[in-house]
Amino acid sequence: MSRSDNPLRRLPSVTQILDTDAIKELQTRHAHDLIVDAIRAELQVIRVKVLDGESRNGAPGAEAIALRVQNRLRVDLQPRLRSVINATGIVLHTNLGRAPIAEEAAKAAYDAARGYLNLELDLDTGKRSSRQDPIREWITRLTGAESATVVNNNAAATVIALRTLTLTPGPSPGGRGEVIVSRGQLIEIGGSFRIPEIMAVSGATLREVGATNITRLSDYEKAIGPQTAALMQIHTSNYRIAGFTQSVTTEELVTLGKKHNLPVIDDIGSGALLDFNRFGFTGEPIARASVAAGADLVLFSGDKLLGGPQAGILAGRKELIQRIEKDPLMRAFRCDKMTLAALEATLRIYLNEDAALRDIPVLRLLSMTSEELKTRAEDLASRLTALGSLESVAMAEDVAYVGGGSLPDQTMRTWIVEVKPQTLSDAEFAQRLRLGAPAVMARVRDGKIVFDVRTIFPDQIDSLVQAVKLCGMCGMPANP
Ligand SMILES: *Cc1c(COP(=O)(O)O)cnc(C)c1O
Repeated sequence: MSRSDNPLRRLPSVTQILDTDAIKELQTRHAHDLIVDAIRAELQVIRVKVLDGESRNGAPGAEAIALRVQNRLRVDLQPRLRSVINATGIVLHTNLGRAPIAEEAAKAAYDAARGYLNLELDLDTGKRSSRQDPIREWITRLTGAESATVVNNNAAATVIALRTLTLTPGPSPGGRGEVIVSRGQLIEIGGSFRIPEIMAVSGATLREVGATNITRLSDYEKAIGPQTAALMQIHTSNYRIAGFTQSVTTEELVTLGKKHNLPVIDDIGSGALLDFNRFGFTGEPIARASVAAGADLVLFSGDKLLGGPQAGILAGRKELIQRIEKDPLMRAFRCDKMTLAALEATLRIYLNEDAALRDIPVLRLLSMTSEELKTRAEDLASRLTALGSLESVAMAEDVAYVGGGSLPDQTMRTWIVEVKPQTLSDAEFAQRLRLGAPAVMARVRDGKIVFDVRTIFPDQIDSLVQAVKLCGMCGMPANP
C-alpha cells in the first residue's frame, strides 16, 4: 500500500482535535491531560476500525472525533456512587447502603459537612469538650443507661468493648482474659463479621460453652475461672435456632455476672429503640430493656433498625465507658462530624415516638399498611401499563424481608408490580435499569422484573416510570 493510499493519513492530529469548539468547551471543565488521553484513546479506536475496513467512509473529521471524545469523558467521569431507586422491597439492603436516614438527619450532616460546628467545643465555657457528649446525652435518655459512646459501626464497638473489658491489670499487663459465649450465638454477619474472629482481633480469648441448640446457666458457671473477664450475649440477628432449644435470659446472665463480679456485654445487633412487636416482628431485643435487665454494656448498630447513619453505639456503666474512651483505638474508631450530626438528629427524633414513626424512614417503611401498599402498586401498575411498551404488567401480593441481617425469619406482606419486557430478556432489562439514570434496582423472578412498592419513595415514581420507558426503547445504548 502506498503512502497516499493509507486511510490513516487523513486522520486528524491531536492538536487539530484540541482546536475544535467541542474540545475548547471541555477545557473549561476538565484537566488538559485527561482530555488529551481521551483524544488519544478515541483515535486509537478509530485507527483500528479504519484498518479493519469497518469505517466505510474513511477517517472521521476532527469535529466528529471531538464529539466522541466529549461522550467518552462524560461516561468515564461519571460518579461511581449513584443514587439508586430501591425497588427490591428490602428496607435494610446492605448493598444499597442499609438505612436511608431522616430528612432532618441528612440536613444535619449536610450542615456539619459544609461549615464549622462545636464538634469538640463547649460553647458555654469556650473550653474543649468531647465529641461524644451529645450522643451520650441522647442515648442515656433513650435507653436509661448511665453513659454511652459511639464508634464507626457495631463491629468496632464489639472490638473495643472486648479489648477494654478483658485487659487484665497486674503482673502481665497487656494480656487479655476470657470471654464466655454460648455456642448458639457464635454468629457471622455479612461475611466479614464473625464473633470468633472479632474476638481474636480484640485480643480476648473466646470460651465457648453449651451446644448450638442448648446452653444452660450452669454451662456458663462451670466455665468461670480466674481467667474469665466477661460474659457475653449476642443476639442471633440473622438466624434463629428453632425446635428443641434452651438459652439463658439476660437477667439470668446478669445475676450470674454479679455473683462472680463479671461484667455482662450484650450485643443486641440492630438497635431497636422501640418495640418492634407493633410492626408484627417478634424477638427483637430493645436497647432500654437490655439496660434495665442489668447488662453492663449494650452494643448496637446505628444504621439497622435504629434507622440512622452507620455507627456502633455502646451504652452502659459509666466506669466502663470511661475506660473504653481511653483505649487508643478510640481514635481510630471514632465517628466523623457528619455521622455524629446525623446520629444526634436521629436520636432527637426518638424523643417523641410518634415523630419517630413518622419521620424515620426505616420505621415508616416497616409500618406501611397493606392498603397503602396496594394503592401505590395500583398507581404504579396503571402508569406502567400506560407506557404501552411492556409485554405484561400485573400486580400481586407478595412477601418481603427486612434485610440487613435483621429479623431473618420474619416476612412482611407487601404489594408488587411485575412486568415482562417485550424484546429484552429479564436480565438485560434489569441491567439497563441498573445502568440508567437514576439507577433502579429491582428483583428478577421467572422472566419478570418485580418492583416492590414499599421501598420506592413517592417522589421517585415519576423517575422510575421514565426509567422503565427508556429501557423498553429498542436500541438504547447500554451505558458502558
Ligand atoms: C449487624 C450486627 C453486628 C455488626 O454490626 P455493624 O454495624 O454492621 O458493624 C454485630 N452484631 C450483631 C448481633 C449484629 O446484628
